Amino acid sequence: MSEPSLATWSLTGAPSFGLNRFLAAARPSATYQVMDRVAAKRASGAQVISLSAGEPDFDTPMHIREAGITAIRTGQTRYTQVAGLRSLREAIAQKFERENGLPVDWRDTLVCSGGKQVIFNAMAATLNEGDEVIIPAPYWVSYPEIVQLCGGKSVVVPCASERGFKLMPASLRAAITPATRWIILNSPSNPTGAVYSRDELLTLAEVLLEHPRILVFSDEIYEHLIFDGAEFHTIAQVEPRLRERTLTMNGVSKAYAMTGWRIGFGTGPRWLIENMEKLQSQQTSGACTISQHAALAALTGPQDSVREARRILQQRRDMMVALLNRAPGLHCDSPAGAFYAFPSCRGVIGKISAAGARLSSDEDVATALLDETGVATVHGSAFGLPGFIRIAYALDDRTLARACNLIIDFCHSLKPSFGASEHAR
Ligand code: GLU
Repeated sequence: MSEPSLATWSLTGAPSFGLNRFLAAARPSATYQVMDRVAAKRASGAQVISLSAGEPDFDTPMHIREAGITAIRTGQTRYTQVAGLRSLREAIAQKFERENGLPVDWRDTLVCSGGKQVIFNAMAATLNEGDEVIIPAPYWVSYPEIVQLCGGKSVVVPCASERGFKLMPASLRAAITPATRWIILNSPSNPTGAVYSRDELLTLAEVLLEHPRILVFSDEIYEHLIFDGAEFHTIAQVEPRLRERTLTMNGVSKAYAMTGWRIGFGTGPRWLIENMEKLQSQQTSGACTISQHAALAALTGPQDSVREARRILQQRRDMMVALLNRAPGLHCDSPAGAFYAFPSCRGVIGKISAAGARLSSDEDVATALLDETGVATVHGSAFGLPGFIRIAYALDDRTLARACNLIIDFCHSLKPSFGASEHAR
């Protein structure tokens, strides 16, 4: 492993020699950076339509909010066990059994403060310096940074848009080395919305069965947001022989519009869950008690809000994809799940914006879009695949249509680059 440079990321005002070297070499969350930029622009009076934040625009359903209020009113305001309320862990075990066909003992579950903490705990509990983690790209921005913070090394495997941004078994096989410790799978995917079929998971599982030391992390936070009647599959169910080394992660944030409640959970082999619990006991002591009661109501209560969210998001997806494909230079395939689209912007790279910005990269495209039209997106290179932008479309129809039309106008107003126009003359 190459030595991370202390100067890679120096925090303002903090002497870089005082930082932990893994932190010094890590980057802050790119999604949060864009969200912060949006907040700053709005605070200065600018109108911004944010297609950047990955969170549903729906409100948390009322019965879930009421459960949180009842928890406060009835004095459920003390610590829970580190691994979470027993009743919630039982509900989580039942959820995995009912929805994913995984026979889960409640003792093999862990409740964390958001899905991110499940990932962090798993990596911190298992990685030693030099251990490798295979991450198919495009990936969610936080995977490589969490691996970096835990002293591991990300092995990024590019997945072509022509193959639906999905990892192919041959690419997986080629990425495995004796140092491989984990592979992180994410279906439906953030940022592409790609969903792995049963057969696709089986072909990946076949490769993994040849390597018994590799652990599998399956991030399924967008499980319920899957369209066109498609069925969701999870690797531990599709290949039960991988169960003893798979950590299946989920949470209430996306399905129940509960991003601010910060509840994620996972199930996996007991040795791993127990060690993640040990880590958590010295860290947060456990997830917020009130949020845990609300999460219990989410998992055990009526599920119609989830079905409704899926229906609405599918309609928005269709409208958005149709509009984006009218923008010259953009190309958008229809995502199968989540609430993200990942259109190619390669056709506008090299052009010059109406305000004179030279668009040399996807980051320039996202920056010019925000500065010149007030539409915030996240550049694809933050997700490990340059030449694309991520659009989060969990936004009401009218605002979403307005944002798409602004993007179309922006693309129409682009001029060929100086070099290209000179050439044309
Ligand atoms: N997961 C969401 C996103 O990708 C929320 C922000 C974050 O945690 O990255 O936008």
